[in-house]
Amino acid sequence: MPAPRKRFGQHFLHDQAIIQRIIAALAPQPDEHLIEIGPGQGALTLPVIKQIHHLEAVEIDRDLILELRSRVRRHGELVIYSSDVLAFDFASVKQDDRPLRVFGNLPYNISTPLIFHLLDYASIISDMLFMLQKEVAERMAAKPNSEAYGRLSVMVQYHCQVALLFNVPASAFYPPPQVESSIVRLTPYRDYPYPAKNYALFESIVKQAFGQRRKTLRNSLKELINDDVWAHIGIHSDLRPENLSVQDFVEISNSLDQGAKA
Ligand code: SAM
Repeated sequence: MPAPRKRFGQHFLHDQAIIQRIIAALAPQPDEHLIEIGPGQGALTLPVIKQIHHLEAVEIDRDLILELRSRVRRHGELVIYSSDVLAFDFASVKQDDRPLRVFGNLPYNISTPLIFHLLDYASIISDMLFMLQKEVAERMAAKPNSEAYGRLSVMVQYHCQVALLFNVPASAFYPPPQVESSIVRLTPYRDYPYPAKNYALFESIVKQAFGQRRKTLRNSLKELINDDVWAHIGIHSDLRPENLSVQDFVEISNSLDQGAKA
């Protein structure tokens, strides 16, 4: 096996007890459509394929793929997409009416952009189970008025229910990462609790507001919303983005969209 590559965020799991806990949380079933991100040397791939005999995976490091294929061959079929997951079109692998179940011990250097990428496919995904930095997992689950609450929290919680399952120490990996890790489950809503009428507008409001986190909404959103419009929205424009719930952001976006149509 080649030495772990830092640029691909390679930290391989070797703690069997942790691996078993992750597989138990995943509970893969043979009739489901599972896809793994970054199978690496197969720490999660092998136990999953032993249980369900068919699995798909996206891996960027070609040097790992041959070895991985031969390691799992006698237990079932592994379809590997040799690709950068950030550019991977998850819709292209959906073959039937089964939703995708996505899982993986994510490369930490790309975990935040990867989560944003996956949110674009929320409508065809039934659930996601990921290992990532504890700090990123906490940002995904954070509530308003906390330090960790930001654009990632709002966008993830707009689409998904978030459950922090358990923490994993650095000693469970080779080489050990600098940070603690967590297992998190994201379950996209089938019926959104607060649907945005214009998703692109909602997305850009959240991005713009948190782009200038310390500014009041009046300042950070002044190109979109003037004082007259704020008066109709019913949310104080002197608040900061971290004070707003997902519902509040949707409300701002929906009232602007209505304004545009009126
Ligand atoms: N699943 C293995 C495990 O748990 O031991 C490996 C996990 S390691 C943290 C991350 C894996 O993601 C590596 O195999 C790495 O090569 C792969 N990877 C890194 N960047 C990637 C990318 N942009 N697209 C696809 N795979 C990537």
